[in-house]
Amino acid sequence: MKKVAVGVDIGGTNSVYGLVDDQGHILSEGVFPTRNYPDSDLYIEELYIGIQNLLKAAGDEVELVGVGIGAPNGNYYRGTIENAPNLPWKGPISVVEKMKRFFPTLPVILTNDANAAAVGEMIYGGAKGMKDFLVVTLGTGLGSGFVANGQLIYGYTGFAGELGHVTVSHTGRVCGCGRKGCLETYVSATGIKRTIFKLMADSMEESEFRHITFNDLTAEMITKAALNGDPLAIEAYEYTGMLLGHALADAVTITSPEAIFLFGGLAKAGKYIFEPTKKYMEMHMMPVFRNKVKLLPSGIDGKNAAVLGASALVWQSLTGKQM
Ligand SMILES: [Zn+2]
Repeated sequence: MKKVAVGVDIGGTNSVYGLVDDQGHILSEGVFPTRNYPDSDLYIEELYIGIQNLLKAAGDEVELVGVGIGAPNGNYYRGTIENAPNLPWKGPISVVEKMKRFFPTLPVILTNDANAAAVGEMIYGGAKGMKDFLVVTLGTGLGSGFVANGQLIYGYTGFAGELGHVTVSHTGRVCGCGRKGCLETYVSATGIKRTIFKLMADSMEESEFRHITFNDLTAEMITKAALNGDPLAIEAYEYTGMLLGHALADAVTITSPEAIFLFGGLAKAGKYIFEPTKKYMEMHMMPVFRNKVKLLPSGIDGKNAAVLGASALVWQSLTGKQM
C-alpha cells in the first residue's frame, strides 16, 4: 500500500487539494471555489468530502498519513487562519481543530503559503540538503519563508518572515497592511501592474497597455510584452528587479542564506526578473556576502507547487526533522 499525504492550498479564488506521495508525485487532485463558502464550517466539510472522494477513487492502494495545509495568514502555532484579506472569513478560524474532527488520528499541519513553499523546496525541490535558504513567492502579494540552521523561522507570533512588508519607501505606495511603501506594493503581480501605470503616467511612449484598464491588466500580459521586447514592460521588470535585489541583499545580512529561490508568477519572466534582481542584489550586497548567494528559480514551480508544498509539511513532520 502506498502512503500518501494530502496537500491543501487555500487560495482567495480556489482551494486545491491533492494526494501526494513522498516523492512529490500528485496522484489525484480536486478543486472548488473558496468564495462559495463564507461559512468556514461548511468550507471544511466540503474540503473533507473532496478528500474522501479522492481516497475512495484511489481505493485500497493508498494509506493516508496526514494533511498539510498552506494558507495566507496561516499560523503554524495555533493552527488558525487569522484575518486573511483575500479569504471570506473574518477573525481567527481554527482550521486545524475543525479538520481534526474529521481526521482525529492523523497529523494536520497548517502554515502560511510561503512557509509551505519553503518546506516543499526542502523536501522535493532545489533546497534538498540545504540548511539555510530563503523562498520568495511572487504572487498577488510577496511572501517569504526563511530557513536558517535547518529550521523554518516562525518567530514569537508565528508570523516571522514577512519580507513583503519591509519598507522600501516611507512615502511610497499604500499597502494592504495599512502602511506605506511595503516591498510587495512594488514586487508582486499587483505591484508590477502599478509600476506599468506609473510609467505610462510619466511618459508619452505609445504602449499596448494604454488601451487596457488596471483590472484587465495581468502580470502575464506584462511578461509576454517583455518577451516581445516592449520597452515599458522591460523597464517595469528592471525597476521591480532593482527593488527586489536591494531587499534581498538586506535580507541576506540577517540569515546569510546559501540560496534564494524565486517562486510563482513573476519568476516565470526568466531573465527579465532574474537579471536585474541579481545585478542589484550584488551591487547592494555587503562585501562579506558578495557573490556567495545563489539566486535560483524554484525547483517545484508549476501549477501544483502550492499543493506539493502543503503536502511536504506532512512528510517533514513524519520524518521528525525539526523545521
Ligand atoms: Zn505592507
